[in-house]
Amino acid sequence: MKNLRKKERQEKLELGNKMPKRIYKCISCGRYTLRQDKCPVCGGIVRVAHPPRFSPVDKYGKYRREMRQLIEKIEVKKDV
Ligand SMILES: [Zn+2]
Repeated sequence: MKNLRKKERQEKLELGNKMPKRIYKCISCGRYTLRQDKCPVCGGIVRVAHPPRFSPVDKYGKYRREMRQLIEKIEVKKDV
């Protein structure tokens, strides 16, 4: 049991090193949290505290959005 928990923790650490950490902030009490669903303190709604400006994920997201816009344009042309 102990070994399993240790391994789990290690995997989480490795994941944390690879993935850019998103810090969320509660809009109700202003506390920072890593939880995405709700504030662990007051249960309020959380938002991303820092916009992922320098994140490579966001870089690809830009291309994805451009792609989607292109697709939308094509589909609009098809309709007309
Ligand atoms: Zn809160």
